[in-house]
Amino acid sequence: MDSDRGARTALIVGAGVAGLAAVIALAREGWQVEIAEVGPPDATSGWGLCLTGPSLRALDALGLADACLAEGYGMSTITHVDVRGEPAGLIRLPRLIGARRPAMAGIARPVLHRILYAEAERWGVAVRHGVTAAAVDQDEELVRVRLSDGTVRTVALLVGADGIRSSTRGLLRLASSRAFHGQMVWRALVPRPRWATGIHQFAGRAGTAGLVPVSDRQAYVFLTENGVGRDVLPDAELAPRLRNLLEPFPGRVAEVLLLISASAAVVRRPVLTDFVDGAWNRGGAVVIGDAAHAPAPQMASGAALAIEDGLVLARELARHDSVDAGLQAFVRRRGQRCRTLVETSVTIVALERARRHDETYPLVDSCHRLMAEPM
Ligand SMILES: Cc1cc2nc3c(=O)[nH]c(=O)nc-3n(C[C@H](O)[C@H](O)[C@H](O)COP(=O)(O)OP(=O)(O)OC[C@H]3O[C@@H](n4cnc5c(N)ncnc54)[C@H](O)[C@@H]3O)c2cc1C
Repeated sequence: MDSDRGARTALIVGAGVAGLAAVIALAREGWQVEIAEVGPPDATSGWGLCLTGPSLRALDALGLADACLAEGYGMSTITHVDVRGEPAGLIRLPRLIGARRPAMAGIARPVLHRILYAEAERWGVAVRHGVTAAAVDQDEELVRVRLSDGTVRTVALLVGADGIRSSTRGLLRLASSRAFHGQMVWRALVPRPRWATGIHQFAGRAGTAGLVPVSDRQAYVFLTENGVGRDVLPDAELAPRLRNLLEPFPGRVAEVLLLISASAAVVRRPVLTDFVDGAWNRGGAVVIGDAAHAPAPQMASGAALAIEDGLVLARELARHDSVDAGLQAFVRRRGQRCRTLVETSVTIVALERARRHDETYPLVDSCHRLMAEPM
């Protein structure tokens, strides 16, 4: 893609949730867009994702909430269970896309990606797999990007949507503060028990666990392991270790534990947070999604922020005459909301590590209410 001055052309680095949401939102505003994705097609890992109200609201603005609800599992409550196995509270989440539709949805990641990909293709967006941005330079109006396959793109807008380990951030010399919090999070796909019609969260003596339906047939188990280093376990050890960790939990976790088979898709990831200190943009280039702000997974809101970013980016660029002004307005609009979420997630991690679970619930609740405010 080679752009004339003034043409609305964009290169997005990374075809994750943020990158795909951004290309759809930009294409809807008339931008000519291309994506450079380092991974192969269909590489998305198989665990599920919770699309909270703000995620659904942003997807609805892209015309995709109903597709996600049809293929995922709509729900509106979080049931908290305390360390004795007693119900500790029922949170009814605000229904941000109308009283007739659920407050949130669970969905398998590959399903969400398939929906986003199909929509990007419908808008004629080209996705180049196996390539990344290798070098960037820019003048006042154009960004010149050399890709790892040796080809060059000259565009009005470069968007780094390449996740928490973003290399675009490095090319733009944007500093961020990444932290590991001494926790690992687990996810495992299991058959959905019939009683699991909303999110269930169980407080244990050493960590938290729970269950999120992602379709009529499937749910994912989540568990947070406290006070551990960043070791990597062999795949064969994942399912038995997860079962061991779930064993001390009270109540219905005993039932859930039996559903985790050796063949289940089990993943274990470090709890990391990140935030770009200062501006997220440089001239006609910007970072979005986890590349700019990555909350801990406990808030289940990283994807919400990523989808919102794509939408707000396209809206602010449409409202301003120059890309630079649009990007500055975008960062001004997004900065505080994303910082609050990342910081709240860090506080939740600290409370969990101190085993002060009762204090996390109201914090999570108030943060969800804050996120329900307009994006
Ligand atoms: C275990 C876990 C559970 C989570 N659960 C939830 C949840 O329930 N709800 C929720 O809202 N959020 C959740 N999150 C957070 C959410 O997954 C992220 O916030 C979200 O995926 C961020 O989207 P992204 O597109 O910015 O980054 P990513 O999803 O990481 O996508 C980045 C993309 O860029 C590509 N890429 C990477 N480097 C390069 C490069 N150099 N060049 C080109 N392409 C590149 C990657 O291959 C990938 O396709 C969870 C996170 C974790 C770790």
